[in-house]
Amino acid sequence: MRIDIVTIFPEYFGPLGVSLIGKAAARGDIDFHVHDLREWAHDIHRTVDDAPFGGGPGMVMKAQVWAEALDEIAPPAALQAARGVPAAALAAPGGAGPRLIVPTPSGVPFTQASAARYTGCAQLIFACGRYEGIDARFIDEARARMPVDEVSIGDYVLAGGEAAVLVMVEAVSRLLPGVLGNERSASDDSFGGASSGAGAPPDDGSAGGPVLPGPTGTGAPGGRPDGGWSTGNGWSSGGTETAASMAGLLEGPVYTRPRVWRGREVPEVLLSGDHAAIARWRRDAALLRTAANRPDLIWRAAADPGTLSPRDWQVLSAMGLSGVVRRDGAEPDAGGMAGEPARLPAGPENMAH
Ligand code: SAM
Repeated sequence: MRIDIVTIFPEYFGPLGVSLIGKAAARGDIDFHVHDLREWAHDIHRTVDDAPFGGGPGMVMKAQVWAEALDEIAPPAALQAARGVPAAALAAPGGAGPRLIVPTPSGVPFTQASAARYTGCAQLIFACGRYEGIDARFIDEARARMPVDEVSIGDYVLAGGEAAVLVMVEAVSRLLPGVLGNERSASDDSFGGASSGAGAPPDDGSAGGPVLPGPTGTGAPGGRPDGGWSTGNGWSSGGTETAASMAGLLEGPVYTRPRVWRGREVPEVLLSGDHAAIARWRRDAALLRTAANRPDLIWRAAADPGTLSPRDWQVLSAMGLSGVVRRDGAEPDAGGMAGEPARLPAGPENMAH
């Protein structure tokens, strides 16, 4: 993949030479080109901005300087050649032509799903805004030539697009083949790595039996990510998990040696060697953490009938959400929750913690 970054602060992108992404670039798997926007300015001061029409504070980046940069990085002639491929393929996220990404707090949210889609692109061009942003006519014109995404990395305002671009480039790059040491790492991550929201729930095998034991009150290491539930045998091995088991969820806690650290033990199931039980424990821990930290993701998953399994619903219920996860307030059926999937209420305000 080729990645072009246009900025007035090229030095901001030194970190692209570091760690896994630096190695991928050194191997030639990612071809980075960082450009100084001021190279396309014409006056002695290399001006790239001007006062906003309509008044107000701050400055606006000039359309002309951006247009000249884009013309050189993605020449119209090259775009014509790219149009030799079917138009649908060109316009698709994984199309053969370049794709312009403009970071802005007023853009659509950048998510793991966006990162995964961008891995299919041959060339990404990032336009780092500064000041009050870029003259909108540049973006309109670019959109007539290539796919353009205005993208936000979160509901806050940065001083410039550089940090946002570093975030996006890292999220995309680590999903490219060969960049991560272990390809499974990405699918095990929060949000399911290359997956978007919904993912296949694990095969429960059986939804029967207890899901979580009650609070231990001992302070012993618990199965619940934030403590309060003992691991014990309550994390039963209900079946197998898929690599996409974190799709749409946050990853649960992780541990390494030593087995006991400052009196705190690693959850026993992780030492059991029972892969199905470990996978189920991870799924349960992910559900609990997601419900606690990002209930919006649980509602999203609940909206897709294929995402949460009966066993998943049991876990959510055992967390104390039984009156919430099912609109009718019914407890899960101990013999399984076949039939109508449980439904969540309309909004986060109804979620009990
Ligand atoms: N006036 C703009 C507004 O209110 O939407 C904010 C401009 S901000 C000070 C300057 C630049 O920082 C933006 O053009 C954009 O490139 C970048 N930026 C700031 N916050 C961002 C965010 N949450 N996501 C992506 N880019 C952001």
